[in-house]
Amino acid sequence: MAKPKVAFYWCASCGGCEEAIVDLHEDILKVAELVDIVFWPCAMDFKTNDVKNMQDNEINVCFINGAIRTDEQVEMAHLLRKKAQIIVSFGSCSQLGGIPGLANFWDKESIFASSYGGRCPSVNNPDGVVPQEISEVPEGELTLPAFHNTVKTTDQVIDVDYYLPGCSPAPYLTMRAINTILSGDLPPKGTVLAPNKALCEVCSRNETKPEKLSIDRVNRVSLVDVDPEKCFLAQGIICMGPVTRSGCNGEADGRCVAANMPCRGCYGPTTEVHDVGAKMIAALASVVGLDGEENMSETAVQKLLDQIVDPAGTFYRFSLAKSYFRRKIMTDPKEEK
Ligand code: SF4
Ligand code: SF4
Ligand code: SF4
Repeated sequence: MAKPKVAFYWCASCGGCEEAIVDLHEDILKVAELVDIVFWPCAMDFKTNDVKNMQDNEINVCFINGAIRTDEQVEMAHLLRKKAQIIVSFGSCSQLGGIPGLANFWDKESIFASSYGGRCPSVNNPDGVVPQEISEVPEGELTLPAFHNTVKTTDQVIDVDYYLPGCSPAPYLTMRAINTILSGDLPPKGTVLAPNKALCEVCSRNETKPEKLSIDRVNRVSLVDVDPEKCFLAQGIICMGPVTRSGCNGEADGRCVAANMPCRGCYGPTTEVHDVGAKMIAALASVVGLDGEENMSETAVQKLLDQIVDPAGTFYRFSLAKSYFRRKIMTDPKEEK
């Protein structure tokens, strides 16, 4: 019997999710034994035409990582959707917009200005040249894919069958997902292929989280001595564990918590949570300054809340593009693309 055909593709991505496939270590050999990898441009020499020349639905499963930011990524996502029976949205960027999604606070012009213009101290570009979709050169016309104002998740562009969360997904979850899909015993469409339990539920520090939590000072992890045994929230350090799916480290403490760092929420929400940031803000709003709130002046409350440096980056680090907000409103609607 012919082996199932598997494809991997990256869109707006740091490359870490591709590394996560390589992190399967010797299991990658098992994967290679079980399947034919028919498209993986990061690791092997494939061209877009290799995919275009395939029959529709010829690929059994395609893993797409990274968010969608350019015309090329939109085109490739549609092409792979047509050629694959199952699309797995792989990693935080693909599922939730991830770190690239934070760019939705700006537009293309301001991003180019900060990357190529005078606002970028490491760039010497006196003429302020930015990437052009079409450039005339002596040899002819060079083209680059259009760069969009808005970063989108994969499922905001094409239909997605399953999600593997994480920045990046844990190798054991990837291997489990591949085996599940190859077994043909498929979970319902839309399933997130990771435990549907909040990180706090598997966290060894959970028992030190007081029943009635009250935060009277918000601490930054880099500026305090962190007690490695105690719940971060009980130390006034924002930890996204209450609203984040577990699984990044099996049933053990989250990868970051185990390294004495608070969870930043890369595994995204459990099914009970629609918007991780909003949920965490709501949870914190009920505990910040709780004990003395009724006696606090507005200025004192504001001072306390001001201790949350970079609220957007704290609560929506991985999920802005998939949140209720999605992006900063563009004044010109045609710029929304
Ligand atoms: S999810 Fe994380 S590791 Fe994967 S592409 Fe995005 S930033 Fe990189
Ligand atoms: S808030 Fe963080 S440290 Fe506290 S129990 Fe949850 S995951 Fe653990
Ligand atoms: S602890 Fe949180 S931020 Fe760290 S890997 Fe796990 S889910 Fe992601």
